[in-house]
Amino acid sequence: MSHVAPYHTNSTEDPHTHTNVHHDHDECQDGKRIKSEHRIAGTGGKPRCKVCMNLESSM
Ligand SMILES: [Zn+2]
Repeated sequence: MSHVAPYHTNSTEDPHTHTNVHHDHDECQDGKRIKSEHRIAGTGGKPRCKVCMNLESSM
């Protein structure tokens, strides 16, 4: 598990719970679902993914 630069998705096909957040862990299951062509660097001004928060707090 490691911290990575923030990234988010520009996909409109995934559920909003996955598209309206940004991720910063490479082990995040929601983050892993983002296809490479939809993966955008940065937070996109979106709040942090709850899964990523839990990953960090469990470290
Ligand atoms: Zn995440």
